[in-house]
Amino acid sequence: MWVQIRRAIADLWLSQTCVFCDRASPESLCASCWQQIQGSAAAQPPMLTAQALPVLAWGHYERQLKQAIAQLKYDSHPRLAESLGRALGERWQATPIPTRQRPTVVPIPLHPEKLKARGFNQAALLAAAFCRQTGLPYCEHGLTRQRNTLPQFGLGADARQTNLSDAFGVGRSLQQRQSPGPILLLDDIYTTGATVRSAATTLRRQGFSVCGVVVLARAGLHSAPAKPPGLTSPKCVRPPRHRRLN
Ligand SMILES: [Zn+2]
Repeated sequence: MWVQIRRAIADLWLSQTCVFCDRASPESLCASCWQQIQGSAAAQPPMLTAQALPVLAWGHYERQLKQAIAQLKYDSHPRLAESLGRALGERWQATPIPTRQRPTVVPIPLHPEKLKARGFNQAALLAAAFCRQTGLPYCEHGLTRQRNTLPQFGLGADARQTNLSDAFGVGRSLQQRQSPGPILLLDDIYTTGATVRSAATTLRRQGFSVCGVVVLARAGLHSAPAKPPGLTSPKCVRPPRHRRLN
């Protein structure tokens, strides 16, 4: 009986496939695809912004990392967040943003309508994996989304900031937390910084300090994420089978 159980577990394990290339893999990404994504994540020092909100990014929003984020968000592969979030955590462990106190990690929330449509908040999944790797405290609902803002793509810098003004509120779970320390925001993509600045402003107005932001990918102003990005196929990457665009 134990042999059968062990075999069933092994079958289950082997039936998992790489979300990029469909090859059998014990992880969400096979070693070959993971290597390609890591190639997109060139080491970058924390970026200091004029608004005193340091940004630590795992990589540039391009090539395989861009594809991985598209797979995560638009092709409903939330399990990708575990590998990516842990990799982001390793980056933090190697080059953290200096803070006087241990920060509490708060993901950028989605508006409830978008959350319902997608079924998960990619930033929250990344943040959970990031905290499992780093051991930092996690407050999933530290921020709430009060307004369903327009998509940021296609808007100029000023319009992005206006679009996001008063978009966030402070969640009760953060308000009730004893000595949360500074807040470390976490998001998947950083483009102009309008989203995280708006979130930081909301938190600071309520008396919280914000020590910085960690993101999976930093986009250049001219490579701003638009709609779900089209995937170009490197060697072992097949186009996804069921694309869901929203
Ligand atoms: Zn693969």
